[in-house]
Amino acid sequence: MGGSFPGPYSWKYHPWVREMLDSKASFNYAMKAAQMGVTEVGINRAFYCLDVLKRKVLYVLPTRLNAADFSKDRFDSALKLSPTLATLFTDTNTVGLKQAGAASLYIRGSRGDSNLKGLDVSELILDEVDEMDQKQIWLALTRLDGQTRKCVWAISTPTIPDYGIHKLYLTSTQERFQFKCPGCSRYTELVWPKKGEPGSIEIIGETIHDVRCHESFLKCKECGVKLDHHDKLNWLSTGTWVSTAGTPNQDVRGFYINQLYSPTVSPGELVVAFLRGRGDEAANKEFHCSKLGVPFIGDGAQVTDELIDLSVRTHTREDCRPKKAGRLITMGVDQGKTNYFTLCEWFVDQMSYDINVAAKCKVLTHGTFMEDEWYRLRELMCEWQVQACVIDADPQINEARRFAKEYPGFVFLCRYRRGKVGKEMVVSEADTGAPLVTVDRTNWMTAALGRFRTARVDLPADVGLDFRAHIKAPVRTYVNDDTGNPVATFVETGADHYAHSFVYSEIALPLAASIRTGDDITRFL
Ligand SMILES: [Zn+2]
Repeated sequence: MGGSFPGPYSWKYHPWVREMLDSKASFNYAMKAAQMGVTEVGINRAFYCLDVLKRKVLYVLPTRLNAADFSKDRFDSALKLSPTLATLFTDTNTVGLKQAGAASLYIRGSRGDSNLKGLDVSELILDEVDEMDQKQIWLALTRLDGQTRKCVWAISTPTIPDYGIHKLYLTSTQERFQFKCPGCSRYTELVWPKKGEPGSIEIIGETIHDVRCHESFLKCKECGVKLDHHDKLNWLSTGTWVSTAGTPNQDVRGFYINQLYSPTVSPGELVVAFLRGRGDEAANKEFHCSKLGVPFIGDGAQVTDELIDLSVRTHTREDCRPKKAGRLITMGVDQGKTNYFTLCEWFVDQMSYDINVAAKCKVLTHGTFMEDEWYRLRELMCEWQVQACVIDADPQINEARRFAKEYPGFVFLCRYRRGKVGKEMVVSEADTGAPLVTVDRTNWMTAALGRFRTARVDLPADVGLDFRAHIKAPVRTYVNDDTGNPVATFVETGADHYAHSFVYSEIALPLAASIRTGDDITRFL
C-alpha cells in the first residue's frame, strides 16, 4: 500500500474493517464517511473471490467513466504493488474485463446502457451506491434472489434518508463499532453530539477561523474522560461490531462508521467542517454525509405531509369545468406507460416579469391515462379550455409531436437540459418538428415544489394519495460538478410522475401568459 498507510495491507489503521473482511453474510451494506478504508474491503473481496474461490465477480461503479478510471488507477496500481496479484491475472488488456484463469472480473458503470444485464455472477460489489442508477441496482439485487450462493457488498457515503445505502442499511443488522472506554471500561461508540444527547467530542471554538478549534478533543460519552486522538489505534483495538436492529437477519449485515474514528482526521478538522456547515447548506450536507457518514436532508429540500395538508382547500376535482375561455389554465403531462396529467389555474394581479413568483396556483384536477389512450389529452384540452400545455418530449416523441401539431401554439414539448440559467427557457422547433422548450430541471422543480413551503398552491379536497406521494418523492440534494463545486439537484425517492406533471404545468404558465398577451415569453421570466 502507498500513500498514508505504507507497507503491506493491514487492518491496523482501520480496525473496523477486520470483521468486515471476515463477514460470511450474503448481503453486506457499508454506510460510511469518506476515506475510512472501506472501499478497500470491496476491492479485497473481489481479489479474494477470484484468487481463492475462483468465482466470477461483477464490480460496479456509478458511471462508465468511473469504471474506466478504476480499471486504470486502482486495479493496475494494485497489480503493480503485488506480485501475487500480478501473477493471478492472465489477461488485463480489456478495460471492463480482467481474466484470472477461468475466473473473470467484470468492471462496469451503472448508468447508460443496460450492461449489467446478462452477466451471470453471484459475487456483486457496488462501489458508491448512492451515485448509481438506483433502478439498475434494484434489478441487479433482485436477479440474485434465485441464487443459492451469493455475496453482495454495497458500499457508499450516504446522501439522503431512505435512499441508496441508507435504504439498504435500514434492512440490515445496523451494526456500529463499539470499543471499551479506557476510563470507565464501558463499551461505547464515537458519535457527534445531538440536541439533548451527549456526544463523543468536546467542541472548542466559535468560527472556522478560530484557532481554538484545534483544541477540540474526543471523549467518552459515558464518563467524559478525554480520549487521545493520537492514541486512537490503541483504545480502538478492543472494538467490535454491535447490532442495533431489533430482530436482525444475520445474513444481511450492515456497517456504519464515521470520521470520528479516522486515524488521519483530527477532532479540530471535524469541528471546522461542522462550523462551516452552519448557514451553508452544501457545506452542511458535506459535513453530515462525508464526515459523519449519515444521510442529510436540508430545510425545505422535500415537500412534507404537513405542507400538503396545509394546502388542501374545499374545491374538488369534479367541480364545474369552465364555460368559456378566459381563465388562465395550464396542463402538464408526464409521459410513460401510464401518462400523468395535472391541470392548474393561475391567479395573477398583472401579467408581468417573474410571473411564476407572482402567481398563485390552484390545482384543479389530476389523473392518468394509458399509453394507448392519447385521445384523452384532446378531451382534456377541450373540457378545460387549456391555455398552454407542456408535455414531456420522451419517450413517445411521435405521439407528443402529433398532439402538439393539432394545437399549434398551445402545446409545447419539454426537455430538461443543464446549463440553462435560472428560469431561462429556450423554445425551438429544430429537432422535433414541434415547439420544444428546454429548461433547467433543478430550477423549475424548485420553483414548482417550493410553492408548498410558501403557501402559494391550493390543492383539491379530494387530492389523490398517489399525487401526494409523488409530490413528496423528489428531494433536493447536492452533487459535485466537473469542477468539484457543489450544485443542487433533485433525486427521486419513489415514483414522482405527478410531481413532474405539476412542474410542467408551472413551466406552461409563462407560455400561457405569452399566448394570452401576444408578448414575447422573456417578458414573463
Ligand atoms: Zn468512559
